Amino acid sequence: MHRTEIDADGHADWRRSLAGALRSARELRRRLRLSDDAASTGDQVAGFPLLVTESLVRRMRPGDPDDPLLLQVLPTAAETESTAGFVADPVGDGAARRAPGLLQKYQGRALLLVSGACAVHCRYCFRRHYPYATDVRGFERLAPALREIAGDRSLREVILSGGDPLTRTDAWLAGLARILADVPHLRTLRVHTRLPVVLPERVTDDLLGWLAGTRLKPVVVLHVNHANELVGDCVDALGRLRRAGVLLLNQAVLLHKINDNVDALADLSERLFEVGVLPYYLHQLDRVAGAAAFDVSEAKGAALVDELRRRLPGYLVPRYVRETPGEPCKSPIG
Ligand SMILES: *Cc1c(COP(=O)(O)O)cnc(C)c1O
Ligand code: SF4
Repeated sequence: MHRTEIDADGHADWRRSLAGALRSARELRRRLRLSDDAASTGDQVAGFPLLVTESLVRRMRPGDPDDPLLLQVLPTAAETESTAGFVADPVGDGAARRAPGLLQKYQGRALLLVSGACAVHCRYCFRRHYPYATDVRGFERLAPALREIAGDRSLREVILSGGDPLTRTDAWLAGLARILADVPHLRTLRVHTRLPVVLPERVTDDLLGWLAGTRLKPVVVLHVNHANELVGDCVDALGRLRRAGVLLLNQAVLLHKINDNVDALADLSERLFEVGVLPYYLHQLDRVAGAAAFDVSEAKGAALVDELRRRLPGYLVPRYVRETPGEPCKSPIG
């Protein structure tokens, strides 16, 4: 049975939990009492290994091969099929690169890729083919990116992304937050992360310290696709972020068999609200090679969001968008 290590301050050591994440498809099936069948794959498909935290595995329903959390992380043979229109870099990241680790597509905000590592590998990830190894650096290698940010007075917001930026240590992130807070034209520090949900012990006091401790307005955009993800100790972790003054938003991806029905989407919005998070975006799947099995048509997505609008208050209806290379913002659908 999984045990969480507790350090001298009474905190679970998140690095140990991260290192102990599951990497074996057979072990995952065994834990969920699922038999190996003809469609079972190894631990790695199309060069993208299985990875899922213990905490998330505990929220999956044993015996259910269609569990919406399992489907997000279990490799399938379908990922090796090539499908017309599904490519390595569907969102034009390559063209948006201003410096190593720095992407800018939209006015006023730039994305800093600070880590290539994640705590879960989402099989539909649009950056599954991103060349992190050549683009994610320590501080010294981020220097050109930080110079660009400091020199561009049109920037208001820096978004830490990756991979998952919170796989970096708090000491490293605190250093980065101090550098960014010293750039006078910046106002907002945003973090795009799944860790508070899939590895709740990551929300340490030190994290709250650097995130909410500078003059920059802190925003965390989570990535939750199904209400079943929002149970257990992540609820407390989200409460700690909120009480520290962090604005919590969520982006979900519309995913076949996982959340492509109105009940699942409504439950997700309501559950997010219960735990203090507002729905922000519902993304059309980026057409990355290997992810075609997750695709839902835009017509169906638009109908679902329409239905959602009839059911929920406006603030619980996410903006349904697609990312089109070259556009000045995410494009609304429907
Ligand atoms: C999505 C994205 C953003 C953030 O866009 P918002 O609409 O502000 O949430 C910023 N930069 C890049 C490169 C993005 O892909
Ligand atoms: S970058 Fe985000 S979507 Fe991609 S694997 Fe990591 S956590 Fe999942």
